[in-house]
Amino acid sequence: MATAISNDLQEQTLGPVPTTMRAAVYRGVNDVRVETVPVPKIGAGEVLIRVACCGVCGTDLKKIHTGSHSAPRIFGHEFAGTVAAVGQGVRGFRIGDRVLSYHHAPCGQCYYCRKKTFAQCETYKRVGCTAGFEPSGGGFAEYVRVMDWIVRQALIRIPEGIPFEQAAFVEPVNTVLKGVRRLDLADDETVLVIGQGPIGILLATLSARSGAKVLTSDLYPERHAIAAAYGLRHPIDAGREDVVAAARAASEGRGADAVILAVGGNALIRTAIDAARPGGRILFFAQTQHSDATFDPAVVCMDEKTLLGSYSSSFEIESDVEDLVFGGYRGGFDLTRLISHRFPLEEAVEAIRVASTPTAASMKIFIHP
Ligand SMILES: [Zn+2]
Ligand SMILES: [Zn+2]
Repeated sequence: MATAISNDLQEQTLGPVPTTMRAAVYRGVNDVRVETVPVPKIGAGEVLIRVACCGVCGTDLKKIHTGSHSAPRIFGHEFAGTVAAVGQGVRGFRIGDRVLSYHHAPCGQCYYCRKKTFAQCETYKRVGCTAGFEPSGGGFAEYVRVMDWIVRQALIRIPEGIPFEQAAFVEPVNTVLKGVRRLDLADDETVLVIGQGPIGILLATLSARSGAKVLTSDLYPERHAIAAAYGLRHPIDAGREDVVAAARAASEGRGADAVILAVGGNALIRTAIDAARPGGRILFFAQTQHSDATFDPAVVCMDEKTLLGSYSSSFEIESDVEDLVFGGYRGGFDLTRLISHRFPLEEAVEAIRVASTPTAASMKIFIHP
């Protein structure tokens, strides 16, 4: 484990932009190799970022392990760094600026954008950041090219005093806040968050801001300890306790008003639905893989439970997200405490392995190119 990497990195030394760089290249299913590749060239309106750090996201792992996307690609989209070059006509950014970038931005005009379901917009689905090959994020490389429509809408300046790692949480926090807002929580409600990986803890923490009582379930006491550091006070030990019974016990026998499923796959769908009270709502947050799942349709019809989903980020809530991640950091909302492992880019394969095999000791994994 590369523990020598600073968790408070706020400055990078920028040399002249080289012609080649190191990158973790996806070459096929379960095949990522650290290789030397060309530094991407930028065009008018584009920006080149020297990557300081990049979080490993569950969706990166899914793509690597399932082969859902063609190879070669360079993944990694939760990155922050320093502007190393700017294309002609770029306004508002110059070399040396500390930034993070979303890899998606909506058109703002299509039917889906007008209906505020930005993640379904065709423009939004295009990836606008690349370290070479088919655009796929590119954060697992030394340099990333940010394309023009992203520079205009979704390149974010990092305020002074905020470490790169904290800034790299802007995109995941946006996805989490968007999901929590879909539940429209009230302060007299009880929420159950199933799964206390880094994203589950974020979902629980942001749910708690509504004033609702938040129950958190996970198999690992180590994760409950981290959750407790974020003020989460109602852990359920899923290895020993019946999660559904615990949710009912904490809500006068009804079940949780809202349940968030932050564990991938279908194994806990039944638990999530059963743990919700009649008329309650269930948010699928980690169900990103197409498959068939069975559930009892009468729980939707007769018990009036609502199944909801949320995916990716929303531009409507961006200023709230920045308040949380940047403003919140000054107030002690330190997301870097969710990071358990930091790896240099040369050890990206090990970083992906550790992230893919969660243990009691692993939380968010970061790569520092
Ligand atoms: Zn992500
Ligand atoms: Zn659109």
